[in-house]
Amino acid sequence: MPEGDTVFLAAKRLRTALAGKTLTHTDFRVPRYATLDLRGEPVESVGSYGKHLFFRTPDLSIHTHLKMEGAWRVYTPGQRWTKPGFTARLILATADTEAVGFSLGLVEVLPRTDEHTATDHLGPDLLGPNWDADEALRRLRAHPDQPIGLALLDQRNLAGIGNIYRSEICFLRKVHPATPIAHIDALPALVHEAHRVLTRAAHHPPWRALAYGRQHRPCPRCATNLVVHLLPDPTEPTRTDRGIYFCPACQPASPL
Ligand SMILES: [Zn+2]
Repeated sequence: MPEGDTVFLAAKRLRTALAGKTLTHTDFRVPRYATLDLRGEPVESVGSYGKHLFFRTPDLSIHTHLKMEGAWRVYTPGQRWTKPGFTARLILATADTEAVGFSLGLVEVLPRTDEHTATDHLGPDLLGPNWDADEALRRLRAHPDQPIGLALLDQRNLAGIGNIYRSEICFLRKVHPATPIAHIDALPALVHEAHRVLTRAAHHPPWRALAYGRQHRPCPRCATNLVVHLLPDPTEPTRTDRGIYFCPACQPASPL
């Protein structure tokens, strides 16, 4: 699942490719917008909030989300696509570039003035210009019994963290992922770590994971073998693909 830094970097590439240019061809391959044609519209800006991506014309905002499998690619006109054509959901082309969104989980077109409705429910954006650590803390503390490993994934608390970075943040702070929010003494430091990790990944990629994906391999701190657990999510009981990786020695379970 793409994380906030992936979307932030995609927005940066797409901004370079499209912003300030006029659309010469658009193709919305989703039933709801199949007849929408934005040819002739200028792209004023491209931006991200958490995992949400926005292309803005003077009147409209095209809101997209990668969800599980989505990806954006930028081509020169006529260049062969690197992903199967039938998975393309949105094509935005200018005279000298063609941006293709493959397997997008969401495509919707909003009036510019309504763009905020796509993100109003989200917590502060870890990579946004208005990152607000105090607001993220307030939202986390509103659910004191929630395990931190789930709370970090909940975009209503803070926006931008996926499965990779929730493991990394808990590992770096030596916190067991099942620890309830109320039992974490240094919650502000953990929120600060989340901001630091995402910022580094977005501005100095690639991020090299210390814990994520390293089960049965030695902990970089203490050499104990790392483990992967499934953290049952009461709101999504059928999801079993979200293993969280941690060190059982450095991140002991909190005494309850
Ligand atoms: Zn360790």
